[in-house]
Amino acid sequence: MNVLVINAGSSSLKYQLFDTATNEVRAKGNCERIGIDGRIVHKIPGKEDYVKEIPMPNHSVATRILVETLTDPELGCLKSMSEIEAVGHRIVHGGPYFSESVLLTQEVYDTLDKKCRDLAPLHTGAHLQGIRGCLDVMPDTPQILVFDTAFHQTMPPEAFMYGIPYKMYKDYAIRRYGAHGTSHRYVAGEMIKLMGGKAEGTKIVTCHLGNGSSISAVKDGKVLDTSMGFTPLAGVIMGTRCGDMDPAVVPFIMKKTGMTPDEMSDFMNKKCGFQGISEVSSDCRDLEAAIAAGNEQAKLAMDILGYQIKRFIGAYAAAMGGLDAIVFTAGIGENTASIRERALTGLDFLGVDFDRAVNDKTFGRSGVTKLSTDKSRVQIYMIPTNEELMIAQDAERIAKSVK
Ligand code: AMP
Repeated sequence: MNVLVINAGSSSLKYQLFDTATNEVRAKGNCERIGIDGRIVHKIPGKEDYVKEIPMPNHSVATRILVETLTDPELGCLKSMSEIEAVGHRIVHGGPYFSESVLLTQEVYDTLDKKCRDLAPLHTGAHLQGIRGCLDVMPDTPQILVFDTAFHQTMPPEAFMYGIPYKMYKDYAIRRYGAHGTSHRYVAGEMIKLMGGKAEGTKIVTCHLGNGSSISAVKDGKVLDTSMGFTPLAGVIMGTRCGDMDPAVVPFIMKKTGMTPDEMSDFMNKKCGFQGISEVSSDCRDLEAAIAAGNEQAKLAMDILGYQIKRFIGAYAAAMGGLDAIVFTAGIGENTASIRERALTGLDFLGVDFDRAVNDKTFGRSGVTKLSTDKSRVQIYMIPTNEELMIAQDAERIAKSVK
Protein backbone atom coordinates (compact mmCIF):
# COMPACT_ATOMS: atom_id res chain seq x y z
CA MET A 1 0.00 0.00 0.00
CA ASN A 2 1.23 3.53 -0.77
CA VAL A 3 0.99 5.53 2.44
CA LEU A 4 1.85 9.21 2.66
CA VAL A 5 3.27 10.13 6.06
CA ILE A 6 2.89 13.78 6.99
CA ASN A 7 4.62 15.69 9.77
CA ALA A 8 3.13 19.17 9.74
CA GLY A 9 4.85 22.01 11.56
CA SER A 10 3.71 25.62 11.74
CA SER A 11 5.56 26.63 8.56
CA SER A 12 6.58 23.26 7.15
CA LEU A 13 5.13 20.00 5.96
CA LYS A 14 7.54 17.08 5.91
CA TYR A 15 6.46 14.01 3.97
CA GLN A 16 7.49 10.46 3.15
CA LEU A 17 5.75 8.15 0.72
CA PHE A 18 6.03 4.51 1.86
CA ASP A 19 5.35 1.31 0.01
CA THR A 20 4.29 -0.73 3.04
CA ALA A 21 4.68 -4.03 1.15
CA THR A 22 8.46 -3.49 1.16
CA ASN A 23 8.80 -0.70 3.76
CA GLU A 24 10.60 1.20 1.02
CA VAL A 25 10.53 5.02 1.04
CA ARG A 26 9.51 5.90 -2.53
CA ALA A 27 9.85 9.65 -2.09
CA LYS A 28 10.36 12.16 0.66
CA GLY A 29 10.71 15.85 1.13
CA ASN A 30 9.68 19.02 2.84
CA CYS A 31 7.44 21.95 1.95
CA GLU A 32 9.18 24.77 3.78
CA ARG A 33 8.42 28.40 4.60
CA ILE A 34 4.65 27.91 4.31
CA GLY A 35 2.88 31.23 4.89
CA ILE A 36 6.16 33.10 4.33
CA ASP A 37 7.05 32.43 0.69
CA GLY A 38 7.35 28.71 0.02
CA ARG A 39 9.82 26.10 -1.21
CA ILE A 40 9.66 22.38 -1.88
CA VAL A 41 12.65 20.07 -1.42
CA HIS A 42 11.75 16.73 -2.98
CA LYS A 43 13.88 13.58 -3.04
CA ILE A 44 13.40 10.35 -4.93
CA PRO A 45 15.95 7.53 -4.68
CA GLY A 46 18.11 7.43 -7.80
CA LYS A 47 17.05 10.89 -8.98
CA GLU A 48 18.56 14.28 -8.41
CA ASP A 49 16.97 16.32 -5.59
CA TYR A 50 14.34 18.77 -6.80
CA VAL A 51 14.25 22.16 -5.09
CA LYS A 52 11.84 24.86 -6.19
CA GLU A 53 10.58 28.12 -4.76
CA ILE A 54 6.77 28.08 -5.12
CA PRO A 55 4.35 30.36 -3.26
CA MET A 56 2.70 28.40 -0.41
CA PRO A 57 0.31 30.72 1.41
CA ASN A 58 -1.09 27.87 3.51
CA HIS A 59 -0.90 24.11 4.20
CA SER A 60 -3.64 23.36 1.71
CA VAL A 61 -1.60 24.82 -1.14
CA ALA A 62 1.52 23.04 0.17
CA THR A 63 -0.36 19.71 0.15
CA ARG A 64 -1.57 20.33 -3.39
CA ILE A 65 1.99 21.09 -4.52
CA LEU A 66 3.41 18.00 -2.87
CA VAL A 67 0.74 15.75 -4.42
CA GLU A 68 1.34 17.37 -7.83
CA THR A 69 5.06 16.74 -7.40
CA LEU A 70 4.51 13.09 -6.40
CA THR A 71 2.35 12.55 -9.51
CA ASP A 72 4.48 14.59 -11.92
CA PRO A 73 5.72 12.36 -14.79
CA GLU A 74 9.26 13.73 -14.49
CA LEU A 75 9.64 14.36 -10.77
CA GLY A 76 7.24 11.92 -9.17
CA CYS A 77 6.74 8.20 -8.70
CA LEU A 78 2.94 7.91 -8.86
CA LYS A 79 0.62 7.97 -11.88
CA SER A 80 -2.23 9.63 -10.04
CA MET A 81 -3.28 10.82 -6.61
CA SER A 82 -5.61 7.84 -6.25
CA GLU A 83 -2.52 5.64 -5.78
CA ILE A 84 -2.11 7.22 -2.32
CA GLU A 85 -4.27 4.83 -0.31
CA ALA A 86 -3.85 6.32 3.14
CA VAL A 87 -2.32 9.32 4.87
CA GLY A 88 -0.69 8.99 8.29
CA HIS A 89 -0.24 12.17 10.35
CA ARG A 90 2.24 12.56 13.16
CA ILE A 91 0.44 14.30 16.04
CA VAL A 92 2.50 15.61 18.96
CA HIS A 93 -0.13 15.62 21.70
CA GLY A 94 -3.24 13.46 22.10
CA GLY A 95 -3.68 14.31 25.79
CA PRO A 96 -5.55 11.65 27.77
CA TYR A 97 -7.98 11.26 24.86
CA PHE A 98 -6.02 9.02 22.49
CA SER A 99 -4.25 5.87 23.61
CA GLU A 100 -3.78 4.54 20.07
CA SER A 101 -3.73 5.62 16.46
CA VAL A 102 -7.17 6.46 15.04
CA LEU A 103 -8.98 7.09 11.79
CA LEU A 104 -9.85 10.75 11.33
CA THR A 105 -13.54 11.48 11.87
CA GLN A 106 -15.29 14.74 12.65
CA GLU A 107 -15.38 13.72 16.33
CA VAL A 108 -11.63 13.01 16.36
CA TYR A 109 -10.95 16.34 14.63
CA ASP A 110 -13.06 18.20 17.19
CA THR A 111 -11.32 16.51 20.14
CA LEU A 112 -7.94 17.47 18.72
CA ASP A 113 -9.10 21.00 18.03
CA LYS A 114 -11.01 21.69 21.24
CA LYS A 115 -9.29 19.54 23.87
CA CYS A 116 -5.71 18.76 22.78
CA ARG A 117 -4.87 22.18 21.37
CA ASP A 118 -4.39 23.68 24.81
CA LEU A 119 -1.72 21.08 25.64
CA ALA A 120 0.51 21.86 22.62
CA PRO A 121 -0.94 24.95 20.91
CA LEU A 122 1.67 25.55 18.22
CA HIS A 123 2.05 21.92 17.17
CA THR A 124 -1.67 21.11 17.26
CA GLY A 125 -2.54 24.20 15.22
CA ALA A 126 -0.03 23.11 12.58
CA HIS A 127 -1.29 19.50 12.59
CA LEU A 128 -4.86 20.69 12.07
CA GLN A 129 -3.73 22.76 9.11
CA GLY A 130 -1.93 19.74 7.66
CA ILE A 131 -5.06 17.62 8.12
CA ARG A 132 -7.25 20.26 6.48
CA GLY A 133 -4.76 20.53 3.61
CA CYS A 134 -5.08 16.77 2.98
CA LEU A 135 -8.88 16.92 3.33
CA ASP A 136 -9.01 19.67 0.71
CA VAL A 137 -6.81 17.81 -1.76
CA MET A 138 -7.68 14.15 -1.03
CA PRO A 139 -11.16 14.19 0.56
CA ASP A 140 -11.79 10.47 -0.01
CA THR A 141 -8.44 9.12 1.23
CA PRO A 142 -8.47 7.73 4.79
CA GLN A 143 -6.42 9.85 7.16
CA ILE A 144 -4.96 8.26 10.26
CA LEU A 145 -3.64 10.15 13.27
CA VAL A 146 -0.66 8.72 15.15
CA PHE A 147 0.03 10.39 18.49
CA ASP A 148 3.45 10.90 20.13
CA THR A 149 1.77 10.54 23.51
CA ALA A 150 -0.35 7.43 22.82
CA PHE A 151 2.21 4.74 23.73
CA HIS A 152 2.62 6.35 27.17
CA GLN A 153 -1.07 6.13 28.01
CA THR A 154 -0.52 2.80 29.79
CA MET A 155 1.28 4.56 32.67
CA PRO A 156 -0.39 3.99 36.02
CA PRO A 157 -1.55 7.04 38.02
CA GLU A 158 1.36 6.80 40.46
CA ALA A 159 3.69 7.39 37.50
CA PHE A 160 1.71 10.09 35.71
CA MET A 161 0.31 12.18 38.60
CA TYR A 162 2.09 15.23 40.02
CA GLY A 163 1.98 16.33 43.65
CA ILE A 164 -0.46 19.17 42.98
CA PRO A 165 -4.09 19.34 44.12
CA TYR A 166 -6.28 16.73 42.43
CA LYS A 167 -8.58 19.53 41.24
CA MET A 168 -5.76 20.89 39.04
CA TYR A 169 -5.48 17.50 37.38
CA LYS A 170 -9.25 17.34 36.91
CA ASP A 171 -9.73 20.96 35.76
CA TYR A 172 -6.65 21.41 33.58
CA ALA A 173 -5.55 17.83 32.74
CA ILE A 174 -2.13 18.54 34.29
CA ARG A 175 -0.23 15.25 34.48
CA ARG A 176 2.69 13.43 32.86
CA TYR A 177 2.02 12.56 29.22
CA GLY A 178 5.50 11.86 27.85
CA ALA A 179 6.64 12.28 24.26
CA HIS A 180 8.49 10.43 21.45
CA GLY A 181 5.99 7.59 22.05
CA THR A 182 6.10 6.39 18.45
CA SER A 183 9.88 6.07 18.63
CA HIS A 184 9.80 4.29 22.00
CA ARG A 185 7.14 1.93 20.62
CA TYR A 186 9.22 1.19 17.52
CA VAL A 187 12.50 0.44 19.28
CA ALA A 188 10.82 -1.46 22.15
CA GLY A 189 9.02 -3.56 19.52
CA GLU A 190 12.28 -4.26 17.67
CA MET A 191 13.99 -5.13 20.97
CA ILE A 192 11.18 -7.53 21.87
CA LYS A 193 11.63 -9.22 18.47
CA LEU A 194 15.34 -9.64 19.27
CA MET A 195 14.36 -11.18 22.63
CA GLY A 196 12.19 -13.81 20.98
CA GLY A 197 9.01 -11.88 20.17
CA LYS A 198 7.05 -12.29 23.40
CA ALA A 199 6.39 -8.97 25.17
CA GLU A 200 5.07 -10.59 28.35
CA GLY A 201 7.74 -10.67 31.05
CA THR A 202 10.17 -8.25 29.34
CA LYS A 203 11.68 -5.24 31.14
CA ILE A 204 13.25 -2.72 28.79
CA VAL A 205 14.57 0.82 29.16
CA THR A 206 14.40 2.73 25.88
CA CYS A 207 16.58 5.84 25.58
CA HIS A 208 15.53 8.22 22.80
CA LEU A 209 18.38 10.73 22.86
CA GLY A 210 18.37 13.54 20.32
CA ASN A 211 17.89 17.27 20.39
CA GLY A 212 14.97 16.35 22.60
CA SER A 213 15.54 13.31 24.78
CA SER A 214 13.29 10.96 26.70
CA ILE A 215 13.72 7.68 28.51
CA SER A 216 10.99 5.10 29.08
CA ALA A 217 10.46 2.03 31.23
CA VAL A 218 8.68 -0.52 29.02
CA LYS A 219 7.41 -3.54 30.95
CA ASP A 220 5.56 -6.35 29.16
CA GLY A 221 5.68 -4.17 26.03
CA LYS A 222 3.79 -1.33 27.75
CA VAL A 223 5.07 1.96 29.12
CA LEU A 224 5.25 1.98 32.91
CA ASP A 225 6.97 5.35 33.19
CA THR A 226 8.68 7.96 31.05
CA SER A 227 10.95 10.91 31.69
CA MET A 228 9.13 13.65 29.78
CA GLY A 229 6.15 15.15 31.53
CA PHE A 230 3.26 17.51 30.98
CA THR A 231 5.44 18.95 28.22
CA PRO A 232 8.66 17.82 26.50
CA LEU A 233 10.65 20.09 28.81
CA ALA A 234 10.96 17.48 31.56
CA GLY A 235 13.45 14.67 32.09
CA VAL A 236 17.14 14.76 31.19
CA ILE A 237 18.91 17.89 29.92
CA MET A 238 18.61 18.34 26.18
CA GLY A 239 20.10 20.45 23.40
CA THR A 240 18.47 23.65 24.64
CA ARG A 241 15.90 22.42 27.22
CA CYS A 242 16.63 22.39 30.93
CA GLY A 243 15.01 19.07 31.89
CA ASP A 244 13.99 18.36 35.49
CA MET A 245 14.83 20.85 38.22
CA ASP A 246 13.38 22.10 41.47
CA PRO A 247 10.18 23.95 40.44
CA ALA A 248 11.11 26.76 42.83
CA VAL A 249 13.90 27.70 40.42
CA VAL A 250 11.28 29.03 38.00
CA PRO A 251 9.77 31.84 40.11
CA PHE A 252 13.24 32.54 41.55
CA ILE A 253 14.73 33.24 38.10
CA MET A 254 11.62 35.18 37.07
CA LYS A 255 11.95 37.46 40.09
CA LYS A 256 15.70 37.93 39.58
CA THR A 257 15.47 38.69 35.86
CA GLY A 258 11.98 40.15 35.49
CA MET A 259 11.08 37.58 32.83
CA THR A 260 7.39 37.10 32.05
CA PRO A 261 5.90 33.56 32.06
CA ASP A 262 6.22 33.38 28.25
CA GLU A 263 9.80 34.61 28.35
CA MET A 264 10.64 32.10 31.09
CA SER A 265 9.10 29.30 29.07
CA ASP A 266 11.08 30.36 26.02
CA PHE A 267 14.24 30.51 28.16
CA MET A 268 13.76 26.99 29.54
CA ASN A 269 13.07 25.63 26.07
CA LYS A 270 15.71 27.47 24.07
CA LYS A 271 18.54 28.75 26.24
CA CYS A 272 19.29 25.89 28.65
CA GLY A 273 20.54 22.31 28.45
CA PHE A 274 23.75 21.70 26.50
CA GLN A 275 23.63 25.23 25.11
CA GLY A 276 23.22 26.92 28.48
CA ILE A 277 25.71 24.82 30.40
CA SER A 278 28.46 24.61 27.77
CA GLU A 279 27.99 28.13 26.38
CA VAL A 280 29.30 26.49 23.21
CA SER A 281 26.49 24.74 21.37
CA SER A 282 23.33 22.65 21.65
CA ASP A 283 24.83 20.03 19.36
CA CYS A 284 26.67 17.01 20.73
CA ARG A 285 29.14 17.02 17.85
CA ASP A 286 30.22 20.59 18.66
CA LEU A 287 30.55 19.67 22.33
CA GLU A 288 32.80 16.72 21.49
CA ALA A 289 35.00 19.01 19.39
CA ALA A 290 35.12 21.55 22.24
CA ILE A 291 36.01 18.82 24.76
CA ALA A 292 38.87 17.71 22.50
CA ALA A 293 40.09 21.32 22.63
CA GLY A 294 39.97 21.26 26.45
CA ASN A 295 36.64 22.99 27.14
CA GLU A 296 35.54 22.02 30.66
CA GLN A 297 31.98 23.36 30.42
CA ALA A 298 31.33 21.27 27.30
CA LYS A 299 32.57 18.23 29.23
CA LEU A 300 30.32 19.12 32.16
CA ALA A 301 27.27 19.28 29.86
CA MET A 302 27.99 15.82 28.46
CA ASP A 303 28.78 14.45 31.95
CA ILE A 304 25.43 15.72 33.25
CA LEU A 305 23.48 14.01 30.44
CA GLY A 306 25.38 10.73 30.90
CA TYR A 307 24.78 10.81 34.65
CA GLN A 308 21.09 11.62 34.31
CA ILE A 309 20.53 8.77 31.82
CA LYS A 310 22.23 6.38 34.23
CA ARG A 311 19.99 7.61 37.04
CA PHE A 312 16.86 7.01 34.97
CA ILE A 313 18.03 3.52 34.01
CA GLY A 314 18.55 2.67 37.70
CA ALA A 315 15.23 4.18 38.74
CA TYR A 316 13.35 2.36 36.01
CA ALA A 317 15.03 -0.95 36.82
CA ALA A 318 13.70 -0.46 40.35
CA ALA A 319 10.23 0.51 39.06
CA MET A 320 10.05 -2.57 36.81
CA GLY A 321 11.59 -4.91 39.39
CA GLY A 322 14.47 -5.79 37.08
CA LEU A 323 16.08 -5.04 33.75
CA ASP A 324 16.47 -7.22 30.64
CA ALA A 325 17.46 -4.71 27.99
CA ILE A 326 18.57 -1.13 27.33
CA VAL A 327 18.05 0.41 23.89
CA PHE A 328 19.67 3.58 22.56
CA THR A 329 18.17 5.47 19.65
CA ALA A 330 17.86 8.90 17.89
CA GLY A 331 20.67 11.30 16.93
CA ILE A 332 22.74 11.00 20.11
CA GLY A 333 21.66 7.47 21.07
CA GLU A 334 22.62 6.19 17.63
CA ASN A 335 25.77 8.20 17.03
CA THR A 336 27.41 9.45 20.21
CA ALA A 337 29.43 6.61 21.73
CA SER A 338 30.75 8.80 24.56
CA ILE A 339 27.24 9.46 25.91
CA ARG A 340 26.33 5.76 25.80
CA GLU A 341 29.59 5.00 27.56
CA ARG A 342 28.93 7.58 30.29
CA ALA A 343 25.40 6.21 30.80
CA LEU A 344 26.43 2.55 30.99
CA THR A 345 29.63 2.82 33.00
CA GLY A 346 29.05 1.82 36.63
CA LEU A 347 25.90 -0.20 36.03
CA ASP A 348 27.73 -3.51 36.61
CA PHE A 349 25.66 -4.04 39.75
CA LEU A 350 22.60 -4.38 37.47
CA GLY A 351 24.40 -6.96 35.33
CA VAL A 352 25.33 -4.46 32.60
CA ASP A 353 28.48 -5.31 30.65
CA PHE A 354 29.16 -3.63 27.32
CA ASP A 355 31.85 -3.95 24.70
CA ARG A 356 33.66 -0.61 24.65
CA ALA A 357 35.33 -1.30 21.29
CA VAL A 358 31.99 -2.12 19.63
CA ASN A 359 30.36 0.89 21.30
CA ASP A 360 33.13 3.17 19.99
CA LYS A 361 32.59 2.02 16.41
CA THR A 362 28.77 2.15 16.50
CA PHE A 363 26.89 4.89 14.72
CA GLY A 364 23.60 5.28 12.84
CA ARG A 365 24.65 3.67 9.62
CA SER A 366 25.84 0.59 11.55
CA GLY A 367 22.17 -0.48 11.70
CA VAL A 368 20.93 -2.48 14.68
CA THR A 369 24.03 -3.20 16.81
CA LYS A 370 24.47 -5.28 19.94
CA LEU A 371 26.62 -3.41 22.47
CA SER A 372 26.42 -5.88 25.35
CA THR A 373 28.92 -8.67 25.81
CA ASP A 374 27.78 -12.29 25.98
CA LYS A 375 28.26 -12.30 29.75
CA SER A 376 26.04 -9.25 30.28
CA ARG A 377 22.76 -10.08 32.06
CA VAL A 378 21.22 -7.05 30.36
CA GLN A 379 21.07 -6.93 26.58
CA ILE A 380 22.18 -3.56 25.24
CA TYR A 381 21.38 -2.44 21.71
CA MET A 382 21.59 0.55 19.46
CA ILE A 383 18.47 0.43 17.27
CA PRO A 384 17.97 3.22 14.71
CA THR A 385 14.50 4.62 15.20
CA ASN A 386 11.92 4.79 12.43
CA GLU A 387 8.88 6.76 13.55
CA GLU A 388 7.70 7.33 9.97
CA LEU A 389 7.60 3.59 9.29
CA MET A 390 5.50 3.06 12.43
CA ILE A 391 3.11 5.78 11.27
CA ALA A 392 2.88 4.20 7.79
CA GLN A 393 2.22 0.75 9.29
CA ASP A 394 -0.50 2.09 11.62
CA ALA A 395 -2.10 3.98 8.73
CA GLU A 396 -2.07 0.87 6.55
CA ARG A 397 -3.61 -1.32 9.26
CA ILE A 398 -6.37 1.14 10.08
CA ALA A 399 -7.08 2.05 6.44
CA LYS A 400 -7.43 -1.66 5.61
CA SER A 401 -9.78 -2.20 8.55
CA VAL A 402 -12.24 0.42 7.25
CA LYS A 403 -12.14 -0.62 3.59
P1 AMP B 1 18.02 14.26 16.63
O1 AMP B 1 17.20 15.28 17.35
O2 AMP B 1 17.54 12.87 16.87
O3 AMP B 1 18.21 14.58 15.17
O4 AMP B 1 19.50 14.31 17.29
C1 AMP B 1 20.34 15.43 17.18
C2 AMP B 1 21.54 15.23 18.10
O5 AMP B 1 22.27 14.06 17.68
C3 AMP B 1 22.52 16.38 18.09
O6 AMP B 1 22.98 16.67 19.41
C4 AMP B 1 23.68 15.84 17.28
O7 AMP B 1 24.90 16.37 17.69
C5 AMP B 1 23.66 14.37 17.66
N1 AMP B 1 24.45 13.60 16.67
C6 AMP B 1 25.65 13.07 16.90
N2 AMP B 1 26.13 12.47 15.80
C7 AMP B 1 25.24 12.65 14.83
C8 AMP B 1 25.19 12.27 13.46
N3 AMP B 1 26.16 11.59 12.88
N4 AMP B 1 24.09 12.63 12.76
C9 AMP B 1 23.08 13.29 13.35
N5 AMP B 1 23.09 13.69 14.65
C10 AMP B 1 24.15 13.37 15.39
